[in-house]
Amino acid sequence: MLEQQMTIAGRAETAANTLAVINPATATEFARVPDCSREQLDAAMASASDAFITWRSDEVPRRRALKASAERIREKAGELARLLTLEQGKPLAAATEEIMGSAAWLDYTSTLDIPVEVVQDDATARVEVHRRPLGVVAAITPWNFPVLLAVWKLAPALLAGNTVVLKPSPFTPVTTLALGEALRDVLPTGVFNVVSGGNELGAWMTSHPAVRKISFTGSTATGKHVAASAAADLKRVTLELGGNDAAIVLDDVDPEATAEKLFWSAFANCGQICSAVKRAYVPKDMHTRIASRMAEIASSVKVGDGFEEGVLIGPLNNRPQFDRVGELVADARRSGAKVLAGGEPVGGAGYFFKPTILTGVEEGTRIVDEEQFGPALPVMPYSDVEEAIERANRSSFGLSGSVWGADTDRGASVASRLECGTAWVNQHLAIVPHLPFGGFKHSGIGVENGPWGLMGFTQIQTLNVARQ
Ligand code: NAD
Repeated sequence: MLEQQMTIAGRAETAANTLAVINPATATEFARVPDCSREQLDAAMASASDAFITWRSDEVPRRRALKASAERIREKAGELARLLTLEQGKPLAAATEEIMGSAAWLDYTSTLDIPVEVVQDDATARVEVHRRPLGVVAAITPWNFPVLLAVWKLAPALLAGNTVVLKPSPFTPVTTLALGEALRDVLPTGVFNVVSGGNELGAWMTSHPAVRKISFTGSTATGKHVAASAAADLKRVTLELGGNDAAIVLDDVDPEATAEKLFWSAFANCGQICSAVKRAYVPKDMHTRIASRMAEIASSVKVGDGFEEGVLIGPLNNRPQFDRVGELVADARRSGAKVLAGGEPVGGAGYFFKPTILTGVEEGTRIVDEEQFGPALPVMPYSDVEEAIERANRSSFGLSGSVWGADTDRGASVASRLECGTAWVNQHLAIVPHLPFGGFKHSGIGVENGPWGLMGFTQIQTLNVARQ
């Protein structure tokens, strides 16, 4: 049985109690991790608070530390990717991409500028606007991209001069704990602490008096609890929450090519991506061609254990999510949906669900209105573009969306009317380190990535020096 330890004050820490971690491809326990106690969390917070005093003062070593962290991740990529496939389920190639992407994110972030703006410099005063760090950041992550999403927080938080206490999801703590271990001798003591535990540990973190900023990625329901907890002592928050992304296909596309791109925009990572396509709106004249081409791909793609050669879609990550996807598909069937592909679990051990294409459903059905976060996509016909835009926007979510068309000006004009944080044309899931990413409405508060994301880990100080 694999055992992975926490990192608190630069040291490896076990705990009195442990939690089991399940390999979703076999539904069996393969690792145990510490269930962090309140006292241990206090120790992590105290260590992060102490480290902040020196870490905040000099930007140069921070940039170097980010680069060194990227290098260490690359050295350990094989081991980290293996752990990630074991606990998350994604194919090994995708796990490797996540780990290498995390290194690339650290490298990119290390080059960002922390600007000082001189707004007045004359005989009466010199006035500068500085971005100061906030202090201890509580970083909380979900189970779909545990390492990458942790690094989205870690890299800008550290560059800005903050220190971090990170808690991964109880479904995927192992690789994040291994990341903490890998960086133990790269980062100064206390700058980066990694603790593991259940949801209660998350709640202790968000209400902890040492924390000045919460950077949270997870569901909208939990995000609301986090915001409420932060409000009690005015902690800053960035919330990256759920999505129910619409893709609108226009009538001048090549249906075959678009069907394939749409398929992977919905089914990458087994559909467990906040900004995956979760609803497709297709012109009614093209609907049968696109939906049936997507169903062909769904039926032919290899689903299986992420360590197996040729597997492109792994299992769902955990039992509750596996059950939920099954329930949403069953509910759609009861509402009259036609299942063009999939529609049921693969069977056998592991949380495998067949890639599923549904037609004959519309708004008012759970799988259209809620976030399915799994391998099942409703493909819906529409009659005119105004109607498609209205239906796409009829959601409390607003993370991202896309428009697909040969005329890219028309595509951009439709995309600009989507109520969401990122509006793509002829692509989806194009997420890169230098562009801001965040949600409208219930999909979040604030953004991550690029200089915009970095600013979220700072607070403005106006330095106003009167000249005698
Ligand atoms: P979740 O909200 O159940 O859990 C996320 C994290 O919050 C976990 O670490 C969990 O232990 C912790 N947590 C639970 N209760 C808490 C509480 N009361 N206080 C503090 N922390 C608490 O989400 P999940 O099921 O792990 O992840 C899936 C969700 O994440 C989906 O809705 C998905 O869309 C969203 N997501 C969003 C983004 C984004 O960037 N917008 C990215 C990935 C995933």
